Amino acid sequence: MDLSRTQQDYIKAIWNLDQLDKKAKMKVVADILLVKPPTVLAMFRQLSKLGIISYDKREGAKLTVAGRGEAEQLIRKHRLIETFLRSVLKIEEPLLHDEAEKLEHVISDQLIMKIDEYLNYPSTDPHGSIIPLSRVGDIQYALHEVEPDIPFKIIQIPMAGKEKNYCIDNDFLPGSEWKIKNVGPKNESFLVTNSEVYLAISDHMAEKIKVTIIRR
Ligand SMILES: [Zn+2]
Repeated sequence: MDLSRTQQDYIKAIWNLDQLDKKAKMKVVADILLVKPPTVLAMFRQLSKLGIISYDKREGAKLTVAGRGEAEQLIRKHRLIETFLRSVLKIEEPLLHDEAEKLEHVISDQLIMKIDEYLNYPSTDPHGSIIPLSRVGDIQYALHEVEPDIPFKIIQIPMAGKEKNYCIDNDFLPGSEWKIKNVGPKNESFLVTNSEVYLAISDHMAEKIKVTIIRR
C-alpha cells in the first residue's frame, strides 16, 4: 500500500504505543506527533477508511492486520537501515537514528531485502531491538518490478492467448520459483531462470505475470 510519510508516522506511533501496552488515544498521539487533536482525529478517520486502523474514542486507535503489517515493515526497514549504517559505515547516534527515520520512508522493499541478505539476516539492530520478520512474501509484484537475482514465486500467469500457452509450454507456472537473470535494453525483455532452463519474457507479458518475493 502506498502511504504518505505522515500516515506512516501515525502508524508507527500507534504501533509503538501498543508495544508499551498503551492505548493510542487522540490526545496521546497528538502529543507524540506534536500536532493538535483535531488533526489526529482527521488522520484516524483517513486511516480507518484505508482499513489500516479501527478507531473508538474510549479504546483509541488500533491497527488492523493490514495496519500491523505496514507498521512492522516500517520498523523492519528502520532497524535494518540502522544495522547497515552501523556495521558498514560505523555511523553513531544521533545521526544513525535520524538517517534511519528519513530513509525508512523511501527505501524500496527490494533494496531492504538486499541489505538484509548482505547483513546475513540479523535478528536484532544495534540497540538490541528485534527486527520484525519480512512480510514481503505477502506482497504481489508484476514480474517487471522485480530486481534481478531476487528469487520469486509465480502467483499468476497471463489469463489467455499465446502468452498463456508460452508459460504453460515452458513450465513457467504458478507455484514455481524463478529469478531474473538479465534485463534487456530499455526493459523490453527479461531473461528468467529456474537454474535449469532460461526463458525470455517480453515486457508486455511481464506486466501480466504476478509474483511474490521469496524470503529465506
Ligand atoms: Zn532508531
